Amino acid sequence: MSARPDVIVVGAGIVGAACARELARGGLAVEVLDGGIAGGGTTAAGMGHLVVMDDSEEQFALTAHSCRLWRSLAEELPPDAELDPCGTLWVAEDAEQLEAVRAKHRYYGERGVETEELDARQVAEAEPNLRPLAGALRVPGDAVVYPPNAARHLLADAMRAGARLREGCTVATLGDGDVVTARGERLSAGAVVNAAGAAAGLLTPRLPIAPRKGHLVITDRHPGFCHHQLVELGYLKSAHEMTAESVAFNVQPRKTGQLLIGSSRELVGWDAGMNRAILGRMVARAAAFLPAIARLSAIRVWTGFRPATPDKLPLVGRWEDSERLWIAAGHEGLGITTSLGSAHLLADLMLGRAPALDPTPFAPSRATAEAEA
Ligand SMILES: Cc1cc2nc3c(=O)[nH]c(=O)nc-3n(C[C@H](O)[C@H](O)[C@H](O)COP(=O)(O)OP(=O)(O)OC[C@H]3O[C@@H](n4cnc5c(N)ncnc54)[C@H](O)[C@@H]3O)c2cc1C
Repeated sequence: MSARPDVIVVGAGIVGAACARELARGGLAVEVLDGGIAGGGTTAAGMGHLVVMDDSEEQFALTAHSCRLWRSLAEELPPDAELDPCGTLWVAEDAEQLEAVRAKHRYYGERGVETEELDARQVAEAEPNLRPLAGALRVPGDAVVYPPNAARHLLADAMRAGARLREGCTVATLGDGDVVTARGERLSAGAVVNAAGAAAGLLTPRLPIAPRKGHLVITDRHPGFCHHQLVELGYLKSAHEMTAESVAFNVQPRKTGQLLIGSSRELVGWDAGMNRAILGRMVARAAAFLPAIARLSAIRVWTGFRPATPDKLPLVGRWEDSERLWIAAGHEGLGITTSLGSAHLLADLMLGRAPALDPTPFAPSRATAEAEA
């Protein structure tokens, strides 16, 4: 690679890794800088559920496109990426939620995503550890990965296409085609991509990204305890509303036989400490759906920061009136899923290709424009 790369990607989380891969495969000389280690930020703290979500048409389009890209990558993912095509079960507690299952079934079907309605008996057969429920929606195309290893695979792929990675390289400032590292080194490039996750707004101050804390618990090994990613229908409400705190039932079977228990959301700035009250509510919510989970041992609890935007859509595209500064950040609780679709979109825009998705809803300047209107 020449001394001056075509693109510097700041951040080697799953989003930066996916962007580096798309841009390098598109023929650009790419350099990736990360202040820590690749995949060690929020990507290492996430659950790895690859899920089609319907909070908005735009979110549906991006998640469905991204899940298709993950499926096309499946063959080449290494075993340590732990891809598990387990599908999602959206569980319904009562008749009102069954209506929501039916509506979701129709909505997904009209947009080409296969789903299956399960009645109470079929839910009990599919997941015997669930308490009796009214029904569920199964989304068989959803899956689970182990995010840090998936990110490292994407980076390795980028490097096979010529990209370079510098870990332990913190960026102090970035601008329109240049970067200054914390050690005072000035690097210039044809373009810079800010993919610094929840910290992206610290480098591009007007970016509307807030850290939204989540706790996860992992249990010891109980292979076969559940077979799908299990999520309550109220999850979307918990994710959508920017309340100070919320919890929702969300349990994932890992390939190791462990169970990953989520999910909580809190707006507490960068305070990474354990909140025992919200953790207690989260585990109690899981036990309300899966009573036997209360007998399992939790072996580790951690927190991470989702990069949240006001409208729950990521910021992907050129930054305001900059010529050479691009953004790929703000993926909230869906960045493992949407990394591939976002990278595809960003590369389309940067390489002048017809975009696979309408870029307008993801334009990074939309939120600042709204705030100033
Ligand atoms: C509890 C929890 C559960 C989740 N579950 C899921 C899920 O099931 N499915 C899903 O799709 N998503 C999930 N997510 C969301 C997902 O993890 C994130 O959206 C995604 O990891 C964001 O990736 P990123 O690459 O943007 O950020 P990061 O992974 O944080 O990467 C950003 C990188 O930038 C680097 N960086 C930051 N500042 C600088 C700087 N100044 N200089 C150099 N480098 C810098 C960091 O070191 C970091 O490596 C979850 C998140 C949490 C917290």
